[in-house]
Amino acid sequence: MSELQTQGTAVHRRACHLCEAICGLVIETRGAEIVSIRGDEQDPFSRGHICPKALGLKDIHEDPDRLRKPVKKVDGQWVETSWEDAIETACEGLFQVQKTHGSQAIGVYQGNPNVHNWGLMTHAANFLGLIKTKNRFSATSVDQLPLQLMGYWMYGHQLLIPIPDIDHTDYFLMLGANPIASNGSLMTVPDVAKRIKALQARGGKLIVIDPRRTETADVADHHHFIQPGTDAAFLFALINTIVEAKATRLGRLEEFTQGLQEALDSIAGITAEVASKVCGISADQIRAIALDFARAEKAVCYGRMGTCTQRHGTLCQWAMQLLNLITGNLDSVGGALVTQPAVDLLNAPGNKPGSYGRWASRVGQKSEVLGEFPSSLMAEEILTEGEGKIQAMVTVAGNPVLSTPNGQKLDQALESLKFMVSIDLYINETSRHADVILPTSGPLEHDHYDLIFNIFGVRNQAKYSAATMPRQEGLLHDWELFNKLAACYSAKLGTAPKPSFPPQMVLDMGLQMGPYGAQSTVGLSLEKLKAHPEGIDLGPLKPSFPARLMNESKIIQAAPEVVVTAAKAYVAELLQAVPPMPSPTLSLIGRRHVRSNNSWMHNSLRLVKGKNRCTLWIHPADAQALGLKEGDSAQVQSRVGRLTVPVEVTDGIMPGVVSLPHGWGHARAGVKQRVAVEHAGVSANDLTDDLYVDVVSGNAAVNGVSVTVSKG
Ligand code: SF4
Repeated sequence: MSELQTQGTAVHRRACHLCEAICGLVIETRGAEIVSIRGDEQDPFSRGHICPKALGLKDIHEDPDRLRKPVKKVDGQWVETSWEDAIETACEGLFQVQKTHGSQAIGVYQGNPNVHNWGLMTHAANFLGLIKTKNRFSATSVDQLPLQLMGYWMYGHQLLIPIPDIDHTDYFLMLGANPIASNGSLMTVPDVAKRIKALQARGGKLIVIDPRRTETADVADHHHFIQPGTDAAFLFALINTIVEAKATRLGRLEEFTQGLQEALDSIAGITAEVASKVCGISADQIRAIALDFARAEKAVCYGRMGTCTQRHGTLCQWAMQLLNLITGNLDSVGGALVTQPAVDLLNAPGNKPGSYGRWASRVGQKSEVLGEFPSSLMAEEILTEGEGKIQAMVTVAGNPVLSTPNGQKLDQALESLKFMVSIDLYINETSRHADVILPTSGPLEHDHYDLIFNIFGVRNQAKYSAATMPRQEGLLHDWELFNKLAACYSAKLGTAPKPSFPPQMVLDMGLQMGPYGAQSTVGLSLEKLKAHPEGIDLGPLKPSFPARLMNESKIIQAAPEVVVTAAKAYVAELLQAVPPMPSPTLSLIGRRHVRSNNSWMHNSLRLVKGKNRCTLWIHPADAQALGLKEGDSAQVQSRVGRLTVPVEVTDGIMPGVVSLPHGWGHARAGVKQRVAVEHAGVSANDLTDDLYVDVVSGNAAVNGVSVTVSKG
């Protein structure tokens, strides 16, 4: 453990790995007690910033509800068991299903914490790879799958994603993102509020496009409401306006870009007037934004959750890449740039650049995307009878009952399984269906290096975090657990487990072989990082195309075939669109709060107490029309479900749109999280629809779901 001893207390530095911002923390401990957690002013990246969730680390560490021993179900009751028995039970249960029904009969779901946890990143495949199933699912397809797919198709690697150069841009156009609450997503940006202020102080502008006046919209120079799910139309109109004004300037990218004219031809006809009819932003405003963007010396367009988790998520991500490209802002300082992380996973042995359509799902014949199927398909693959039906599941640090669409259906599906293993810290809404739960050490009990989110940072940096607290007795680190599972399962298969090295050794190798490693003047190594527990700044993002492009041609592919086909279909739909008639339905969107992190942090009283945050936001005009007032209960109904939720009347939401945060709904029987159950809320994913997905990638479209609302 890294510590400075002072009068009985120890001071530790580490990165918080709860969210993508990876803020530096200073944690003071006295013996087994955590005395304080504060932001690390010396961290060159986060510069002292933290959010309230950092204090939740203490709550997770001390949480009496957290599992500290493996448990298995005996006659419907949870009983603690030994590691030996738990691992044998898990492997034998899975092995029997695989032997009887084949390897496709096992499904795997990996939740969002997998990418926040380096032990899982480096070692989960040792075990999961032995289950040679194509039924792989993850949180990616309820989040950023469209963006990764564009990275793969346009630049040659699913992780090669241009990041907004927020510290140098003059004009930041942001769609469907709320970094003040989320602290950045696929834009690792601790301290985003200060960076936005700095942008404005140097004369720059932030323009937010969102159906909700978010915390980020509140600090923007301009905010425009947009009808959920129509961002692609808005973006097509921006591009066409710029083309029509002859304001394009590819600059040096022109000589290594292919298919741009085909891409532009496919969206021709979507003028500002056409887009305005569906998106609700006036044609004049669309034209003004387009020309301001094109004329800004340095501009960047960026969109996150709201633009990925919708029916045209891939088209949105594609259009944003094109907008940056045609205005000379791709791979340009102040525009969108790719990073050069210290451990370069993109060039690591065995890395996977991406794939699409290599196989199809059993039930709906839906395409494989990046080695997985969209999570929206999981329940039907479990519930639909026939050869290849999923009979057993392994969930790793995930709670898809609350975090994937049509959670009630998945809840029933998981209950019908022959066998289930969960690797999780809690008995939650998903793991309660398991036969055996394998917990790992808590977030402060193991060391960490952020292998993933440094790939998406607004600066290049590196930081190693030693374990802060001793591991609680009897717990395994996740990488140790996966090695034990791999050894046990290999023995059943009659194969030898692959050689495996501890994460620290893998990290040291990655650092030394990386761009700032032994061959460079920086000379990064694990030893050097350990000597700088506050982190090491590796400089701003720099233009790096075409050298950094990961496809063989080293050419930007502006017109991926599948995307162009989808764009033409959407354009035809838009050109036929008639002005919307008054509708009895409202459009449901999500929302994020700084004290929430999906479903994970709701067992921390300090984070959930106070005013109920699980409320339905509704515009005053809609509330009046429906006879609803502040605090009333409303019944909200979609194609798949119905729930009752308190109403919050606010003009912070667009008329015709309602908003409910996700990750709540802890009142299901058998959940062993006392705080979360007491502050249960309702699950937005009991309303979101497993059939409502991004047309190209199959990513869940959890925004723009049609619902009816009534007093209830
Ligand atoms: S923003 Fe909050 S949760 Fe995210 S890394 Fe920083 S302190 Fe942790």
